[in-house]
Amino acid sequence: MSNELGLYIHIPFCRSKCSYCHFASGVFPGSLIEPYFGALRREMETLPDLLHKLNANGKSTSDWVVDTVFVGGGTPSLVDEQEIGRTLEWIRSAFRLAPVPEITLEVNPGTLTGDKLEGYREAGVNRISLGVQTFQDHLLKGVGRSHSVADAISTIEMCRRGGIDNLNLDLIAGLPGQTEDDWRENLSRVAAVSPEHLSLYLLEIHEDAHLGRSEGRADASLPDEDLVAVWYEESVDWLGKAGWEQYEISNFCKPGRQSRHNLKYWTDQPFIGFGCGAHSYWSGVRWGNERDPFRYVELLEGGEPATTFRSEITPRQHLEELMFLGLRLNAGLDLSRCRQILGFDPLERFSRELSELVQGQLIEIEGDRMKLTRKGRLFSNEVFVQFMQ
Ligand code: SF4
Repeated sequence: MSNELGLYIHIPFCRSKCSYCHFASGVFPGSLIEPYFGALRREMETLPDLLHKLNANGKSTSDWVVDTVFVGGGTPSLVDEQEIGRTLEWIRSAFRLAPVPEITLEVNPGTLTGDKLEGYREAGVNRISLGVQTFQDHLLKGVGRSHSVADAISTIEMCRRGGIDNLNLDLIAGLPGQTEDDWRENLSRVAAVSPEHLSLYLLEIHEDAHLGRSEGRADASLPDEDLVAVWYEESVDWLGKAGWEQYEISNFCKPGRQSRHNLKYWTDQPFIGFGCGAHSYWSGVRWGNERDPFRYVELLEGGEPATTFRSEITPRQHLEELMFLGLRLNAGLDLSRCRQILGFDPLERFSRELSELVQGQLIEIEGDRMKLTRKGRLFSNEVFVQFMQ
């Protein structure tokens, strides 16, 4: 294991609850912000102890180099720059930061001001991830987003004026009522903005989101799934020609602008999350926090840990996860690293499944890399299921 570490900080506050959202987020009273940040710092102060318990190669906190920090949510940009600044300051005091760490802040359009942005930048934020989702007001309204297209455009302009040269836009395909023309318009807006990074998600409907419940689904006219798959395919081609390389099923970037933090999730690297609902991963062990922010504060104020589950993944689960996550990357799964981590060869373990997938032109194996083919990316769920037994 290298000594690089990613940190995730979860800020649950939002202006409205979007109908498709299943994250640990919501509309909470402003009076919760201060105690929440107090609890966050209490939780962060337990980190040296935690690393010690994890027997982190006998290293102390200051031996670890934090090379990525992701402040996500929720809507972190609802919180003022001083709170975010104090949190990042704590990280600097406890860890060595990499010479050029990637520090991302998630922003929702309409919640940023010039002063806030300047404060975030001074605190070290050098990457903004903006939840644009789509460029049509009626579609934004339909899923309960609290921003307008004009908000998105002015926030993008504010970021650029404020010196942000590493900007991600999130877009969602398959929103209720979205048409092919809407999707095409999204791509041409992307071309005009020219962000360094683009996350292109297909709408997923979770049963614990409003859209996943029968009353939410009843009024939603969702576009046909096959049609959305075609939009996705066309977008991959279009973005490739326009200078964005796809490096993961849902992620595209200008050369060298991959999200260093998200790459950790897909390549079995350690990351530690703080805040309600935050998850952590450390060398085969996963754990997660209480999702309710009030209860999270209560636990930390009472001197108790916020962790609600902890599981050591079995070699079998570890193999499935490595396959599932590694195959999402265009570079594919690093088979030699897999052998090193697992102590056995995935090619042998899944020989029957793999020979069928290779024959069906869904997977290709080149040297020490196993990748989804283009067809395999389209049918990725069918491929992944072969490795889950
Ligand atoms: S802004 Fe993001 S985190 Fe907040 S409710 Fe909407 S989708 Fe969920």
